[in-house]
Amino acid sequence: MSITPDSPEDSLETLSLQSRVVSAGRPERTSDAGVNVGIELNSTFLAPGPTGYGRYGNKSWSALESAMEALESGPTLVFSSGIAAISALFSILPRGAVITTSQNGYSGTMVLLRQAEASGAAEVRYVDVSNTEQVLAALPGSTLLWLESPTNPALEVADMPTLIAAAKSQNIGVAVDNTFATPLVQQPLLMGADVVVHSLTKYISGHSDVILGSISTQDQALYQRLADVRKINGAIPGPFEVWLALRGLRTLGVRMERAQKNALEIATRLSLHPAVDRVRYPGLPTDPHHEIAKSFMKGFGAVISFDHAGGAEAADRACAASQLVAHATSLGGVESLWERRHRWSTESPTIPTNLIRLSVGIEDLEDLWSDINSALLGSL
Ligand SMILES: *Cc1c(COP(=O)(O)O)cnc(C)c1O
Repeated sequence: MSITPDSPEDSLETLSLQSRVVSAGRPERTSDAGVNVGIELNSTFLAPGPTGYGRYGNKSWSALESAMEALESGPTLVFSSGIAAISALFSILPRGAVITTSQNGYSGTMVLLRQAEASGAAEVRYVDVSNTEQVLAALPGSTLLWLESPTNPALEVADMPTLIAAAKSQNIGVAVDNTFATPLVQQPLLMGADVVVHSLTKYISGHSDVILGSISTQDQALYQRLADVRKINGAIPGPFEVWLALRGLRTLGVRMERAQKNALEIATRLSLHPAVDRVRYPGLPTDPHHEIAKSFMKGFGAVISFDHAGGAEAADRACAASQLVAHATSLGGVESLWERRHRWSTESPTIPTNLIRLSVGIEDLEDLWSDINSALLGSL
């Protein structure tokens, strides 16, 4: 098969991302070959051979890795979850590493960072990642700039081209959690980042039925170290999960197009709603991050956060009242989900207690709006 992780399929490079989503990670076109890579259910392989054992490699992983490589422009390793991928990366930082990062970010990552600080493994400098001057001031002496943009769930946007260039000029490593944007909206490796991390659980898989993560990097030595970590620490994906993720990925282009269209319209209507104090969505022309987002992103994603005007209890009432939008955590699936983020004790204190995060799906816009509107009106 031609889908080894470090040999990009040359013919794909001329295709648009929308076509790569559909065609990358397919088996070689030989007579009667399957159109799809199957589910490789083997824990061991006959000797002598390059793989040998199921924790070291699997054809189903390679297919998804090859597809992600085509989208992020870097050889990719798939992990058992997004947080496993992030942990693998943090685990290879030198002891005492200095990490400059956003004060708001995915709550699991924030917990990992606080643990690294508490154990003395790392020093963490928290910044407002949308305040470029503040990030630039914090950078000197850092080991790693860890960027999540847009941030979960505050939806702040970092000036990635400026920050990545500044970090690289000081020999500071740059890693980007690209879960919210997806490679269709921004490709951090092509902007100069060293590493891109995904929770494939979200938009890439797209159907709320899989937990998976990935790391992509063009740095061969780093790729090898991370491959070794996966092999030895064992945070490997299951063959069925990667197959589902690849199947989900095939429709990423149309799902993102529809979800982003719905999100912009819903964000616009929410910003006029009596139950809403403040809408955070970089696609809104009135959003403080709109101009910078527009300057380098090819879309604004489909997650909206907003502060409920009636406070935390009213926010809980709204989330419990919806009929079409499911009251659940997570994001990036075809179905719309919402929740008040502070129902989780791990959510950052910088996030307002009345903030609702809404992951907009691909349902009919008017059905969604009528559900959201009545849940919000009824909660006041
Ligand atoms: C969900 C999420 C993660 C964690 O991914 P899992 O697949 O749940 O382990 C990491 N980063 C972001 C931005 C996320 O939304």
